[in-house]
Order: sequence, then C-alpha cells, then structure tokens
Amino acid sequence: DMDCLFCKIVSGDIPATIIKKTELITAFNDITPQAPTHVLIIPNKHFENIGEVSIADSKLTSELFKAAADIASEYGLESYRLNINTGAGAGQSVFHAHLHLLAGRAFAWPPG
Ligand code: AMP
Ligand code: ZN
Repeated sequence: DMDCLFCKIVSGDIPATIIKKTELITAFNDITPQAPTHVLIIPNKHFENIGEVSIADSKLTSELFKAAADIASEYGLESYRLNINTGAGAGQSVFHAHLHLLAGRAFAWPPG
C-alpha cells in the first residue's frame, strides 16, 4: 500500500529509529512518544488493524506479541503497557496495524 505511512517505514522510504526487524515484523520508536519508552510494533505486510491480522495469520499475530515481550525483556522493563487502538473511535490514526509498547512512567486505569 504505497499511500500508507507505515508501509513506507517498512520499505525505508520514510526514516524511523528501527529497534527490531524480522522477515515478518518491524519495531521502531514512535515519533511523538507518550512515555520514556514508546515503541510501535507492526507487521511488514499491510493490514488495516490488529483484527485483520488476527483473522488472517495467527503466526504473524504471535510474532507481534513476541516482539513486544522480547523488547520489554531486552529493555529490562518490569512494567509496561501494550495498547492497540482499533478504529478511529478508539484513537487509531494510522490504519496499518500496530502495537504500542509504552513504559517508563505510571499509567492510569481506566485509560482515557
Ligand atoms: P494510533 O493513533 O494508535 O494509530 O497510533 C499511531 C502512532 O503513530 C502515533 O502514536 C504517532 O505518534 C505515530 N507516528 C505517526 N507518524 C510517525 C512516524 N513518521 N514515525 C513514527 N511514528 C509515527
Ligand atoms: Zn501499510
């Protein structure tokens, strides 16, 4: 999808601070961090949201979550929040599936 910002990050057409890249997933720093650690983890292939990934590809779904756990472990994070906004009403603004990995400050519950 050549109109998709995150597809362009996967292809390297738009720069990002890449944390991890495999055949299936890419992780990079959020450009507007909402916490001291704010990493986005995305499938290299375009899916509109996590629901579409889950329906299509269980291996890819698990690799996204495994990457989050691996990064949390590598960063030595005791606590972190995984957030997945799905649909504009839930705050999704980039329609290429992504997990937010947030850490390094206290988080409120319930979320805003
Ligand atoms: P969401 O609102 O859940 O769709 O999250 C989209 C995220 O993408 C936001 O946290 C943005 O700050 C982030 N973002 C937008 N453009 C870029 C970019 N060029 N590089 C890295 N992160 C970005
Ligand atoms: Zn895309």
